[in-house]
Amino acid sequence: MESGSSSSSKEYDVIVLGAGVEGSSTAYNLTKNGGGRVLLLEQFSALHTRGSSHGGSRITRRAYTKAYYIKMMDEAYRMWDQIEREGKTQLYLDTGLLMFGPKSSHCLQDAIRCLAESGTPHNRLSAQQVMSKYPSQLYLPFNHEGVFEKDGGLLMATKAVATLQRLFIENGGEFLDGHKVKEITPGPIIRVTTDQGVFTARRLIITAGAWAPAIMATLGVHLPFKVCRTEVLYWKAEEPKDFSWENFPAFICYTDSEDPYYHVYGLPIYEYPGLVKICFHTNHNEVDPDARDALPGPSTTDLVRPFVQRHFKGVQTTPSIYEACMYTESPDEDPVLDRHPLYPNIIMGAGFSGHGFKLAPVVGKILTELALDLPPSYDLAPFRLDRFTWQSPAKL
Ligand SMILES: Cc1cc2nc3c(=O)[nH]c(=O)nc-3n(C[C@H](O)[C@H](O)[C@H](O)COP(=O)(O)OP(=O)(O)OC[C@H]3O[C@@H](n4cnc5c(N)ncnc54)[C@H](O)[C@@H]3O)c2cc1C
Repeated sequence: MESGSSSSSKEYDVIVLGAGVEGSSTAYNLTKNGGGRVLLLEQFSALHTRGSSHGGSRITRRAYTKAYYIKMMDEAYRMWDQIEREGKTQLYLDTGLLMFGPKSSHCLQDAIRCLAESGTPHNRLSAQQVMSKYPSQLYLPFNHEGVFEKDGGLLMATKAVATLQRLFIENGGEFLDGHKVKEITPGPIIRVTTDQGVFTARRLIITAGAWAPAIMATLGVHLPFKVCRTEVLYWKAEEPKDFSWENFPAFICYTDSEDPYYHVYGLPIYEYPGLVKICFHTNHNEVDPDARDALPGPSTTDLVRPFVQRHFKGVQTTPSIYEACMYTESPDEDPVLDRHPLYPNIIMGAGFSGHGFKLAPVVGKILTELALDLPPSYDLAPFRLDRFTWQSPAKL
């Protein structure tokens, strides 16, 4: 995809580096909020599958274990709704969200507490009540419980990114895909050198996903992030209607951290006919993002299979489809949304730790506010860079 003129050395008010969901949302937000001339640069072709934002579905929910995300999600729900209306397309499916796990799970209890304290509508269910609601789909041992959030559901991932990019272009933004940024020269006017030409801007927002740590290192910031390959697994349901999105919710199972399948999540049949998505969230297969698919890496199937055997009825125990994706994990699972400590006209949004899709409209708003020096709508303390040791004395 290419919009606008591609002549080199053009000057912009803001350049956004990276057109995954966070960059596309930020670029869209900028054009709606006085960002001026905005350029979105992407190294691969638009809607590629080599980053973290591709695929047919992501979970959306308010049920977080940290209260500040519940507040952000209130606005994110409204913003996704606005994007659907502007884009005249559906991006959200209200499947509901079931969280379950042993009553002793801290994560489950934190999520229930945050839902209660924020006044978010939810139903707490005993193991027996969960099994009565999903009699032909789930088995939960007696020491488990569940919580159901009606507004939880599914976001249509690639379609959402495409819609954000389309709206950005319709609002006057310029999008150049197939432009890999090779060098960034800071200054009042930032010089961004790509393999296709040079662009300049007064502000730069880096939303480069798994490539952000390497790019930020060239600017003297050493992010303590781990880039991990993860596998998306789709399992065949014997009775597809039991697992259709009308009859089965998105789900997250939190167990205890000693448990081998700590934090498994999934979505009902939606992307592929007859296939339920059941995946492992906790993942530590570190990779070079440019070589994500060079080696298959340790398979997560062996970790998810015992979970499927234990809790799911009527689902085959070998996945039919595997797909690869990447998490960019920060030590506390919160992203960095902040200015560069030395170059305040360079802003970064990275480290979404496998839960950033649903937040993208709010992330776009926050990064826009940072870029345009607008008062922040949120307390950004949890997202500051200086919560980490970011500086490598050897390199600065
Ligand atoms: C399997 C999986 C399941 C997930 N499930 C959920 C979920 O259920 N709910 C949820 O909310 N979140 C979920 N997430 C997390 C969410 O998808 C990510 O947090 C989000 O997509 C990250 O987006 P991003 O824009 O930061 O990164 P990306 O999508 O990777 O975008 C970064 C972009 O920058 C580009 N780029 C990098 N370097 C350069 C360069 N030098 N020049 C030009 N362009 C460059 C890349 O090519 C890429 O397109 C999941 C993630 C995965 C992998």
